[in-house]
Amino acid sequence: MDPAAAPRPARPLDALLDLLLPGRCAGCGSDGGQLCTRCRAALETAPGHPVRPDPPPPGLPPVYAATEYAGPVRGLLLAHKERGALRLADPLGRALATAVHAAAADGLTGRAPIPLLLVPVPSARRAVRARGHDPVHRLARVAARELRRAGVPGRAAAVLRPVRPVADQAGLGAADRRRNLAGALAVRPGAAAGLRHRQVVLVDDLVTTGATLAEAARALGAVGAQVPVAATVAATARRTGGTGRPDRNRTDRTRTDRNHPDRNRTGHARRDHARPR
Ligand SMILES: [Zn+2]
Repeated sequence: MDPAAAPRPARPLDALLDLLLPGRCAGCGSDGGQLCTRCRAALETAPGHPVRPDPPPPGLPPVYAATEYAGPVRGLLLAHKERGALRLADPLGRALATAVHAAAADGLTGRAPIPLLLVPVPSARRAVRARGHDPVHRLARVAARELRRAGVPGRAAAVLRPVRPVADQAGLGAADRRRNLAGALAVRPGAAAGLRHRQVVLVDDLVTTGATLAEAARALGAVGAQVPVAATVAATARRTGGTGRPDRNRTDRTRTDRNHPDRNRTGHARRDHARPR
């Protein structure tokens, strides 16, 4: 793929709105508007890189993330998802585009210009109603637009849907998460045909254990669609404690493979999301 598919500078309209509607930065709390210059720069320079939950759930495709789920990025994702800060969809979607681009460069086959189909992991219906929007679908549309601008053909399509409620995943280990999610997603009726002759890239805002992405890949595979790669804005990286002893949380962490496997691990609580990944 064209290496020029890098993040683009912010749209002038965004800058204008920030001037007209000043506020605190959702990333760092400074007075620099909804997204301060520094946090914007941190997002826009985030390179897509491979990440791997440890252990990976069965069926998880290779995953690429733009950045760590830490610091300003955590605040920005939460503000967009839970507080309806919709203008953050543009910078977050551009970050997602860099992850998709890295995934496409490494993980997709052939040089033929097969259009990408970004398939967002769906939120629970109740969460969409409560939030008033589907945050991951919104990010997927922005990412697809950015990729098209960079010459990578493709679009986003919400072909997956939840088919049953799942229990809150917080506090569940990796195996329990897999059981909780098994069969929870399905391809929408009539949507399977739209998956043909497309390079499917599963997209989500966050990867934690990979259980949700694995379930989404299973649902797509059930209608014959291959999912060679997945991409997210951010990946959690969990520290398991420094005792050297086995830790019950060992089954619930994501490892970043760039540079050093232990870089930048954090230990954030995982109750940020109604749908832990
Ligand atoms: Zn900031």
